[in-house]
Amino acid sequence: MPSVPSRSPASSAALVVGGALRAALAVVSPTSCPGCGADDVELCRACRDRLGAEPSTGVLPAGLAVTTALRYEHEVRGVVLAWKQGGRSRLSGALAAPFARSVRRAAGLAPVVPDLVVAVPPSAAGTRRRGWEPVPHLASRAGVPLAPGLLHVGGRSAQKGRDRVARARAGAALVARAGVVSGRRVLLVDDVVTTGATLLAARGALVGAGATVVGAACLAVVPLLASGSGGTVLAHAARLPGTIP
Ligand SMILES: [Zn+2]
Repeated sequence: MPSVPSRSPASSAALVVGGALRAALAVVSPTSCPGCGADDVELCRACRDRLGAEPSTGVLPAGLAVTTALRYEHEVRGVVLAWKQGGRSRLSGALAAPFARSVRRAAGLAPVVPDLVVAVPPSAAGTRRRGWEPVPHLASRAGVPLAPGLLHVGGRSAQKGRDRVARARAGAALVARAGVVSGRRVLLVDDVVTTGATLLAARGALVGAGATVVGAACLAVVPLLASGSGGTVLAHAARLPGTIP
C-alpha cells in the first residue's frame, strides 16, 4: 500500500465520499467478471471454481504457522484485487467460503484450540481510501466473529517520513488491546499475505499484551516464493520444510 501524503480535511472528506460512491456504483453498474473479464456477470462459473482450492499451510521463520486458501495470481488475483481495492464488496460472498476454509484449517492445526479470532486492522488511510473494511466484511460473511484485539496507532503524522517497509519492520503501527487479548489463545486473520512481516508484527503486539498466538489464517498468499527473490520473510521460509503455499 503506497504511503498517503497529508491531505486537508476537505480532501479527506472527498476520499470518504469517493469510496462510498465507488461502492454504490459497484452495486448498480453493469459489471464483468473480475477474474477473466467475461461480460455481465459478477463472477463467472470458471473463476468461482478457482476459489475452491484446498488451503495450504506454511511456517514463517519465527514459527508462526500461516494457512492460506488461495494463491494471489492470475484470475484469482483479479478477483481479490477487485474485491479489496476496486469497490466490489459483493465479492465477499464468493470469497467467504475459501476464507472460512482457511480459518477452519488453521484452527484445526493449532497446537491449542483458539478462543479468539483477531484481524490485522486496516490502516486509517486504507479505510478512508476504500470507504469500507474488507476483512471484517469478509469475516462477517464467513460467520467468523472477530474480536477487536489490534489497532493502528499514530496516524499519518506520527508515521511521517517512514515508509511502509520501515513501519512493518518496526511494528510500530500495531498495538494490541491487553484488555481484550490478555490470557487468550488468538488466531490471527488477514486478507492477503505478501511477506508475512505484518503478521509477525501483529503477533509481536499480541504476545506483548499477554496473548498466545496459535496461528494465522489468510484468504490469499502472494506466490513470490517461486521467484526466489531474497530479502523477504516468506522467501526465507521457502528454504524451510512445510512452507507457504
Ligand atoms: Zn471469470
